[in-house]
Amino acid sequence: MLNRIAMITGAGKGIGKAIAERLSKDGFFILLADIDKAGVEETVTAIGNDRATGYMTDITDEGQIKLLFDVTEKKYGKIDVLVNNAGIIRDNMIWNMEAADFDAVINVNLRGTWLMCREAAKKMKLQQGGRIINISSRAWLGNAGQTNYSASKAGVIGLTRSLALELGKYNIAVNAVAPGLIDTPLTQKLSKEVLEKLINAQPTKTMGKPEDIANVVSFLASEETGFLTGQTIYVDGGKSIGAGI
Ligand code: NAD
Repeated sequence: MLNRIAMITGAGKGIGKAIAERLSKDGFFILLADIDKAGVEETVTAIGNDRATGYMTDITDEGQIKLLFDVTEKKYGKIDVLVNNAGIIRDNMIWNMEAADFDAVINVNLRGTWLMCREAAKKMKLQQGGRIINISSRAWLGNAGQTNYSASKAGVIGLTRSLALELGKYNIAVNAVAPGLIDTPLTQKLSKEVLEKLINAQPTKTMGKPEDIANVVSFLASEETGFLTGQTIYVDGGKSIGAGI
């Protein structure tokens, strides 16, 4: 058994899958939590059954999260790294957006992340150590059509900063990563026209790859970065500075 344990939400595809694969290469045993059974099975197979375990956990369900932490506590006894990556979009201009689309996005992206942080904080506080890495988004700075998503990802940054203050003295670092436009199943749902506009606004004129995010998560998860806490690292091809020309 590998002796460092990393738990990753939404690791069945996209960025979460790349993070799981990268942290596995870094020597972590991987615990995946996702609602996508086929995706979880695919990631576990890619990593190897002896190096990863998948759990069907909906992060909007407090009971399922408690069960996940209970089961993994009994089986593995500790959690070194938590990556809160699961997230959804329900885009629309606010005048066309249903309150249900606001609730759904806040429920997964912000409340789900908060619930996971709470359970991990209890455990890591007892251990006197750990790392929490929350996947926010560059969109927290503002994106037309994403009032719900931007608000949820801004919330993740506020949560990250406050939690870093609460957990610093227990040797627990809490940071956020804010990806820009990354090529995943989530962005593959966008129309060709919208995608072209978004890529054109990128200073790099390219989309990022899931591995671009995984590399930075790997850095934050390493044992050398404990004094780095409460920060948000943009991995967005420079888009947070401004639009490209
Ligand atoms: P994705 O849709 O490709 O994958 C998201 C994963 O989260 C899926 O496997 C899905 O099943 C899982 N998930 C969704 N709801 C869940 C729930 N309630 N409980 C557990 N798992 C759940 O998305 P992605 O593009 O890989 O995005 C990953 C993260 O990165 C998200 O938080 C997203 O907001 C953020 N992000 C993505 C981009 C991008 O351009 N792709 C940009 C900025 C931020």
